[in-house]
Amino acid sequence: MYLDAILDHNQNFVTSNHYEPYKTSKLPNQKSVILTCMDTRLVELLPAAMNIKNGDVKMVKNAGGVITSPYDSVVRSLLVAIYVLQADEVIIIGHEDCGMRTLYDSSIIIEQMKAHGVTEDQFQAAKEDGVDVSQWLKGFETVEGAVENSVNILNNHPLLPTNTPVHGLVIHPETGELTVVQRGYDN
Ligand SMILES: [Zn+2]
Repeated sequence: MYLDAILDHNQNFVTSNHYEPYKTSKLPNQKSVILTCMDTRLVELLPAAMNIKNGDVKMVKNAGGVITSPYDSVVRSLLVAIYVLQADEVIIIGHEDCGMRTLYDSSIIIEQMKAHGVTEDQFQAAKEDGVDVSQWLKGFETVEGAVENSVNILNNHPLLPTNTPVHGLVIHPETGELTVVQRGYDN
């Protein structure tokens, strides 16, 4: 079982003091917070491609690396990073070949849910909770558009400090090459 493999490794990791190189504080050395996608290819590639080490930044991840509404949990995390944890720049990083672009047609995931046994009653229960499931699960048409939309939500957000630079980037999931979609500085 995978969990047992993790726990075996963990015991050795701790008793052998392998955590020593990772010691740092909870405040980000680079005073910034990154929002990016949960894509497996980015787990190590993104920090390596940006020269980010443990302790350097706050990292928020979700499917697509997107803000879906001004008061979603991503924005909540970003505000905590800014006001409590001393981040003063926001970097939003989408990537090429993102699964959430495929889900621009959310019927794909709805069909998968049905195949996994989710019934019409269950969809109806979600609807009664006020959720339009197909809209809620919908991905984006282009990664650049998604990044721009998230940047714009923050730039128009009443609770974000007005002087906070918000950058929008796209990373290539194989080479790690970064492309700037929106630069958050005035110059
Ligand atoms: Zn992705």
